[in-house]
Amino acid sequence: MLNKKSIQEIDVDGKKVLVRVDFNVPMDENGTITDDRRIREALPTIRYLREHNAKVILMSHLGRPKGKFNMKYSLKPVAERLSKRLGTDVTLAGDVIGDAVQTIAGSLKDGDVMLLENVRFYEEEERNDKEFSKKLASLGDIYVNDAFGTAHRAHASTAGIAEYLPSTVGFLIKKELEIMGKALNTPERPFVAVLGGAKVSDKIGVIENLIDKVDTLLIGGGMAYTFYKAMGYEIGKSILEADKVELAGEILKKAEAKGVKLLLPVDTVVAYEFSNDSPRKTVSADMIPKDMMGMDIGEESSRIFAEIVKSARTVLWNGPMGVFEMPNFAAGTFELAKAMAECTGTTIIGGGDSAAAAEQLGFADKMTHISTGGGASLEFIEGKVLPGIAAIDNM
Ligand code: AMP
Repeated sequence: MLNKKSIQEIDVDGKKVLVRVDFNVPMDENGTITDDRRIREALPTIRYLREHNAKVILMSHLGRPKGKFNMKYSLKPVAERLSKRLGTDVTLAGDVIGDAVQTIAGSLKDGDVMLLENVRFYEEEERNDKEFSKKLASLGDIYVNDAFGTAHRAHASTAGIAEYLPSTVGFLIKKELEIMGKALNTPERPFVAVLGGAKVSDKIGVIENLIDKVDTLLIGGGMAYTFYKAMGYEIGKSILEADKVELAGEILKKAEAKGVKLLLPVDTVVAYEFSNDSPRKTVSADMIPKDMMGMDIGEESSRIFAEIVKSARTVLWNGPMGVFEMPNFAAGTFELAKAMAECTGTTIIGGGDSAAAAEQLGFADKMTHISTGGGASLEFIEGKVLPGIAAIDNM
């Protein structure tokens, strides 16, 4: 089903291979990397290339240097961490393009690894400038995109460059496309999608694409209250998108017409203030007091959602069930993550906050797949074309 070339389908022996990775890692104020998951996730592609005698030239962005050289956003700490993880020296070029970089690239031996400086030190990067893309391309013989997290952006190092070189996807993007692509196109059924998070507006595209594909759609989190409003319930001080009430009503009707089971929480945990310490209680969905706000799905809803998730063959989850950052309102999200961990089918977390929640709650390693892209995986689930993938050569 993957119609894009992958690195196993191209001869890399002795070639200079330019790989776009996503090394946009979180750092503290001293420039120390606080989580190197993104570096670790790029290792299979880098190792494969080294084992197959390629000269590896890595490119990435880090933060938002806004098109200017700013050493606060230098990839130096990344080069150091990568050297440790790979067990070999990684040379950091002092620039992204230009003669000095060409010289280092030209002196690489088979199996060597170099890292270009932050591609966003040039404003041409985000503009997807042709000349800049050409200059990047001139550093290598083959282009590999393995940065799923930026695949929804048409930038020079993610898309433009592919016009000038033979191109393939790396192992990380391949895995993302295979697992999420299968879930969306040929899922094992029942296929259950669980959507939460703060706003309906962020997830409209996702709901509209999924409603044609899933057997059951579970909706929790802040967005549930806009649906309640559409059903005529009192929602008190709960988060509401007043301009999306009509749309929520249409989604409910559409689900019914298509025979998709769309379930909202039957009960909800309410509080007086948006604070962990606020007094709280659980009420049924249609009994939210005027002076309180919904902060989490209730215990009965958690039980119902968990049953459905556990007996599914494919589960796709995006968005927490409540304000999980506050321990008193994390139970619904915890129970959902636990049910996914116990599900024997394919379990996928579509990036962003739910990935953080699963990680924080200790269930991350029990999932079939946690997407590495927040925005990119949302757009993929919406059924949109991702420019960084569209640009790659077809098989
Ligand atoms: P998203 O980025 O759209 O997945 O939304 C995640 C955010 O939604 C988290 O920061 C949650 O705290 C927030 N959220 C979840 N449930 C609620 C709720 N009932 N009221 C307000 N915010 C919520």
